[in-house]
Amino acid sequence: MARNWLKGAQTRYDSVVIGSGLAGMTAANMLAKAGHSVLLLEQHYNFGGLATWFKRKGGHILDISLHGFPIGMIKTCRKYWSKEIADSIVRLQGVRFDNPQFTFSTTFDKIDFTNIMRERFGVLKEVIDDFFVTAREMNFYDNLSMTTRDLFEKFFPGRTDIHRLLMEPITYANGSTLDDPAVTYGIVFSNFMDKGVYTFKGGTDALVKKMKKEMLKNGVDIRNHCLVDKILVEDKKTRGVRVNGREIESDVVLSNSSLPATIHKLTGDEHFSPEFLEEARKVRMNNSSCQVYMGIKKGEKIDYTGDLLFTSVTDEFSAKKLCDKNVTSRTFSFYYPEIRPGTNQYSIVSSTNANFEDWANLTEEEYLKEKDKLIESTLTALEKYVPDIRSKVDHVEASTPKTFKRYTMHTRGSSFGTKFEGLKISKELPEQIAGLFHTGSVGIIMSGWLGAANYGVIVSNEVDRFLRKVKSERLETVSV
Ligand SMILES: Cc1cc2nc3c(=O)[nH]c(=O)nc-3n(C[C@H](O)[C@H](O)[C@H](O)COP(=O)(O)OP(=O)(O)OC[C@H]3O[C@@H](n4cnc5c(N)ncnc54)[C@H](O)[C@@H]3O)c2cc1C
Repeated sequence: MARNWLKGAQTRYDSVVIGSGLAGMTAANMLAKAGHSVLLLEQHYNFGGLATWFKRKGGHILDISLHGFPIGMIKTCRKYWSKEIADSIVRLQGVRFDNPQFTFSTTFDKIDFTNIMRERFGVLKEVIDDFFVTAREMNFYDNLSMTTRDLFEKFFPGRTDIHRLLMEPITYANGSTLDDPAVTYGIVFSNFMDKGVYTFKGGTDALVKKMKKEMLKNGVDIRNHCLVDKILVEDKKTRGVRVNGREIESDVVLSNSSLPATIHKLTGDEHFSPEFLEEARKVRMNNSSCQVYMGIKKGEKIDYTGDLLFTSVTDEFSAKKLCDKNVTSRTFSFYYPEIRPGTNQYSIVSSTNANFEDWANLTEEEYLKEKDKLIESTLTALEKYVPDIRSKVDHVEASTPKTFKRYTMHTRGSSFGTKFEGLKISKELPEQIAGLFHTGSVGIIMSGWLGAANYGVIVSNEVDRFLRKVKSERLETVSV
């Protein structure tokens, strides 16, 4: 008989959270801390969403999206999770670039970038300072007509080398391009390329284990293997969810599922106004990714090659080429034993941005062939930096946009949610249906580990306000 993953679950909660990505878990934790009853439903066996890992024979533990995040994650974890989690965040020591326009290592902070731009690229300090100030002062309510390309041309006209330095890491981190609103660049750049890149000591498995412990301590009812297939709506209000064939009642449904799936699939178009639907249909998904995971044999070592290595063989930065199936640009993440103390093992993960259509429409035979080709070309590219990689590796496998879609159910396997216009639609959901909220990677700004966690905080505050109102209205009705 199939196992009942909802055994012991209540028939009603104040809020149901669909999905355990960093946004969903952060929101669930905050709501429980605020005194609300919370049920967190995850369809996968693991919690964490894209922030996840897998294990393979030979003692390998391979992280999927833990390459680096900005310093702000320390504050977010300390304030909204625990000191223990925040204290496990450590700075990456070296970030390298290697492409036809430049090759160097950087500590990835404002001081080093300023020096590099002055000494290597010959830019005046005043121009660099002005650029940093302009990027820092950008905010959500700014004029959206200026693109990142316009911003770069204003400060560094014709300098495609500088455009590449400033853009390539951000494109890898959130899929944005030179044609996206400059405000998205300014906000992310100021967070990301200012005080270094950080990671979690212990790996994603240790982080998610700590987060689960914290949620349980605060009273969140967490369930895996629980696929929500319907958000229940009555009279323009959420009534709960249908999960694994059972209905569970709640005043709030907070979806961490993909935005289009939340609207069109889980809720249903019939519940939204035509104007809202028209705008929602215009929301573009961000790109997806391919990765190649390489586990190094027990006992073998990799010389220090930097923590993050941005490589490219194309002449100039091109967001289009970054997604091309014929890969020309890769980010290599090197995981040394210090990152997972006690394991004494190394692994390397190569990441590339990718288009869903390039992979989704292949026959099974073509798909497997293309995956092998990706693995082979990645090993060849890595030989430049780790010449004996082929003799050191004892596990290699690849993931594609189809893999990301399968495990997270994201529309088109999107790695970074939606483009900018998705943020407005995500925020407007409760105006359409009382009690229906969305959190998770959207709008470029609210994407990545830090953006998703912070958006979880923002939306949980709105849910808290809503629930307090519902509860006080209920009390008034009872006392009358
Ligand atoms: C290859 C790759 C590399 C990345 N590298 C970085 C990086 O270096 N730094 C960085 O900051 N960010 C990185 N990111 C992005 C980052 O991982 C994501 O932005 C972030 O983890 C997304 O969190 P989220 O809260 O939006 O939810 P997600 O992680 O998308 O999780 C959503 C969850 O909802 C669940 N779900 C969906 N539908 C249902 C349903 N109907 N019922 C139940 N459960 C459901 C899914 O199973 C999933 O667990 C990377 C992403 C990828 C793919």
